[in-house]
Amino acid sequence: MEPRINDLQIESRVHALLDFPVRTNQMPSAIYQILLQCPNDDTEELNIENSKKKPYKCPYSGAKCNVTGDIQRLLLHLRNDHNVEMHDGRSFSHRYVHHNPKHLHHATCMLTLLDCFGRQFCLYFEAFHLRKTPMYIAFMQFMGDEEEAMSFSYSLEVGGNGRKLTWQGVPRSIRDSHKTVRDSQDGLIITRKLASFFCTDNNTTNKELKLKVSGRVWREQPISL
Ligand SMILES: [Zn+2]
Repeated sequence: MEPRINDLQIESRVHALLDFPVRTNQMPSAIYQILLQCPNDDTEELNIENSKKKPYKCPYSGAKCNVTGDIQRLLLHLRNDHNVEMHDGRSFSHRYVHHNPKHLHHATCMLTLLDCFGRQFCLYFEAFHLRKTPMYIAFMQFMGDEEEAMSFSYSLEVGGNGRKLTWQGVPRSIRDSHKTVRDSQDGLIITRKLASFFCTDNNTTNKELKLKVSGRVWREQPISL
């Protein structure tokens, strides 16, 4: 049986209208072009070429899915076959609702896509057990290769009830599986105990837990050649 993913949902989302200024208009693709035009190492050139040609695996985490392809194909597949939503913009604010958080028997995960800088990012929010401790983790993965992923940064913030917790990270490429990133804990981690302090809802029945997670993506200044 595939894990059920409907314990977790986004109740509402607010797109921040702030458009953060782009610090540079230098695209990493320009760097690749220079590398490819002026190779000083044939092996390096071959590795870049091979890695670019290798198809990506479907990054959807809730199902064992064998679909592979280039980014455009995967975007269509995620939207049509997994009903994943795509949001435009470099910043976002989501409210995740976890139903019956005290009865988490298996990892439950939510994926949304973010489209900015002409690239796409997977935003994961997952409830799981780390050993026996119930946790939440949120992180981003870049839909592309590792070299380009490293030119981006992102931040995530969970807040509410006068408290906030912030994470800043570098998105990992979807060449790494969602599970690899989760297990390496490369993201914003919140224990369920801590999560309850961010809840503004005084729901004493504890039937659901609402977390407001906001964040943004930006491109780092490229190293001048
Ligand atoms: Zn898939």
